[in-house]
Amino acid sequence: MTSDNPLLQPWTAPHGLPPFDRIRAHHFEPAFEAAMQANLAELQVISAQAEPPSFDNTVAAFDRAGRLLARISAVFYNLTASETSPELQAVQRRVAGPLAAHDSAVYMDARLFARIAALHAQRDALGLDAEQRRLLERVHLDFVRAGAQLQGPARERYASVMTSLAELTTRFAQNVLHDENDFRLVLRDEAELAGLPDFVRAAARQAAADRSLGDVHVITLSRSLVVPFLTFSERRDLREQAWRAWTSRGEHDGPADNRDIARRILRLRHEQAALHGHACYADYALADTMAGNRHAVQRLLDEVWPRALVAVERERAALESAARAAGWPHTIEAWDWRYWAEKVRQARYAVDDAEVKPYFRLEAMVEAAFDCAGRLFGLHFRPRADLPVYHPDVKGYEVRNAGGELVGLFLQDNFARTSKRSGAWMSSLRWQNRNVPAAEGGAAELPVILNNNNFAKGAPGEPTLLSLDDARTLFHEFGHGLHGLLSNVTYERLSGTQVLRDFVELPSQMYEHWLSVPEVMKRHARHVRTGEPIPDALIERLKAARRFGQGYETVRYTASAIADMSVHALTEAEPPEDLCAFEAELLRRQGLPAAVGMNHRLVHFQHLFSGSGYAAGYYVYLWAEVLDADGFDAFNEAGDPFDARLAGDLRRYIYASGNSLEPGAAFAAFRGRAPTVQPLLRKRGLIEDDAVAA
Ligand SMILES: [Zn+2]
Repeated sequence: MTSDNPLLQPWTAPHGLPPFDRIRAHHFEPAFEAAMQANLAELQVISAQAEPPSFDNTVAAFDRAGRLLARISAVFYNLTASETSPELQAVQRRVAGPLAAHDSAVYMDARLFARIAALHAQRDALGLDAEQRRLLERVHLDFVRAGAQLQGPARERYASVMTSLAELTTRFAQNVLHDENDFRLVLRDEAELAGLPDFVRAAARQAAADRSLGDVHVITLSRSLVVPFLTFSERRDLREQAWRAWTSRGEHDGPADNRDIARRILRLRHEQAALHGHACYADYALADTMAGNRHAVQRLLDEVWPRALVAVERERAALESAARAAGWPHTIEAWDWRYWAEKVRQARYAVDDAEVKPYFRLEAMVEAAFDCAGRLFGLHFRPRADLPVYHPDVKGYEVRNAGGELVGLFLQDNFARTSKRSGAWMSSLRWQNRNVPAAEGGAAELPVILNNNNFAKGAPGEPTLLSLDDARTLFHEFGHGLHGLLSNVTYERLSGTQVLRDFVELPSQMYEHWLSVPEVMKRHARHVRTGEPIPDALIERLKAARRFGQGYETVRYTASAIADMSVHALTEAEPPEDLCAFEAELLRRQGLPAAVGMNHRLVHFQHLFSGSGYAAGYYVYLWAEVLDADGFDAFNEAGDPFDARLAGDLRRYIYASGNSLEPGAAFAAFRGRAPTVQPLLRKRGLIEDDAVAA
C-alpha cells in the first residue's frame, strides 16, 4: 500500500521539494496514518529508553521527531489552501479529528512529560547554551499549557473541556456563515443600484449568479460585498437594512443563535483557565505572549482609546459639514458613516484607482520587494523555472546571500483562482534547522518558503496592475517570507515564523514601511506605458488619503479589542446572563459613539469564538504595530532607510532569530531599548508631529 505512495517515498527534487506532479488526494490518508504511527514510535523510543533524560536524548530528540508528519502536513495544508479540490476537502474533513487526537496523545504522554519536566527542574545545572535553554523552556511550556501536568479526574475533565470547546467553536463559525449566506439584499433596478461603481455591480451580479437568482444584483453579508455597498450606495434605506443585518449576525432566535454558544464557550474557557490555576481565561492566554499579562495590554488600549475618540470626533465633524454642504438633512448614523467618509475622501484627496494603478505593475513591485531585501540583507533572488511546483502560476526562486551561498527557496503564488482560498498568507514546506537526524544524512536544512496573494490577473496580453493596498499586501507577506528565509537557528521548533502571536506580525508589518520610502517608490513605481516615476504630488495625496479615516478604523478595532479583553477577564465562573447587554453597557461606559460601531460584536466575533486562537488576543495587531512603527523609526532617526548597522541588527535579532530569543529581549537588542507607543500614535495621526517633539 505504502510503497507506491509518493508522499512516503524519499523526495528527490531539489531541496526536498515534494513530487507535486505525482501526489493525488487519495495518497494523504494512508500517508497521514503511517506518519502518525511513525511519530508515536519515535516518541516511544524517547520515553522508554533506559538512559536517564538528557537534553539531547529527550528535548533535541523530541525536536527531531515527527518530521514525516510535518512534511506531509505542510504539503497537505499548502494544497488545501492554494490548489484545493472536492477530493482534498473531503480528506480534510476526515483527517481533522484523527490529527487533533494525535496531537493530544503526544502532549498527554505522561512518561515523555516526566523526562521533560525532570530536565526543566534542573535547567540551570545542565550547561545549556541560550538556544537549548529556550527550546527546553518552550517544549516544557507547550506540554504544561496542553494539560500534561494534570492528574486523575482533572486530567479527564480537561480533555472533555477541550473536546466540547472544539465542537462549540465549530458551531459558532457555522452559525456566522449561516447568517451571512441567509441574508440577501436583492437589487432589481437602477434606482436600487444608485451610486454603486462597476466593481461592486460586477461582484453583486456574480453573487446573484452563484445563487441562481437570475437577472438581478445581490448584496450578501460577505465583507467584500457589504462594505463597498455601505461605502457607495446612495440608498440610505437600503444601507440601513444591510447594516442592521450585518451587525446582528449570530443574534437571531433559532438554530443559528450564537448567544448561548458564546456563553458556553466562555464558561468552558474559564474552567480551562481554572484547571491551570488562573483566575480568568485572559490570564491563561496572556501568560504565553510578549505582552505577558492583562495590565500590559490594558495600558496599550488605554493609550490609544481616548486619542482615537478625539480623532473620530474630528472625522465626524468633517462628514457632518460635507453632508450639510450637500443639503442632506439627516444626522449621520452608523449606516451613513462610510458613505460620507468616501465623499470627503474623494473631495479632499482625489485619489482614483485608475490614476494610481498604472504605477504599480505586479512584476515591478515584486522586483521592489526583492531589491529592498538586497539592500537591507544582501539577498539575491534568481528565478528557477525548473523547480517542480503545484500550479503553473507559481514562480520559484533560489535565494542567495551576499557571499553567494544558497539561503533557501522562495515560491510565490500571486494570482486569485477558484481553487485558492481568499486572503494573503505566508507558509512553509520546510523550516530552516540544523537538527536533522543522522539517519536522514544529518545535514542542515534550508527553508522552503511560500507566499500566496489573490491579485486579479491582467487580461491576456495585459499587465497585472496592483492598487497601493495590494502592493502593501505583497510587501507584508514578503516580510513574513523573509522571517522564514533568514531564519538561522539550530532547532526546527524555534525556526522562522513559529513565534509568539503578538510578535509574529512585526517582521511583516515592518517590511511594509520600505514600500512607502519615497526613494523606493520613485525607483520602482513607474508608469506602465511611459516608464515615468510616480509624481511626488501623487505620493503625498496617497499618504494623506490613508491617514484620513484612521480615527474610525482605530475606534472600531479598539472597541472590539476592549470587548475581547473584558469578556475574557471576568473572574466569575458563570458568564453574564445576557452577553449583548454586557457588551452594550461596556461600550456605553467607554463612550463609543453609536454612529461608529465595532469591527466585530461578540455574537459573531470569529477571532474569539471560532477556534482561530485569538481569544484574549485581538489586541495583537495593535501590539505588533507599536513594534513596527517604533522599529522603523530607528531608520528615520538614522536618516537612512537602508542604514547598514541597523539592517544588520534587524536581521540578527528579528528576522533570523525565530523563537530562539524572548521577543521583548529580541526587540530591545535591535532597538537598544523597550518599544514606545509614540510612533504608532503618530503613524495613525492620533497625535500631531510637533506634540511628539514637545
Ligand atoms: Zn501578517
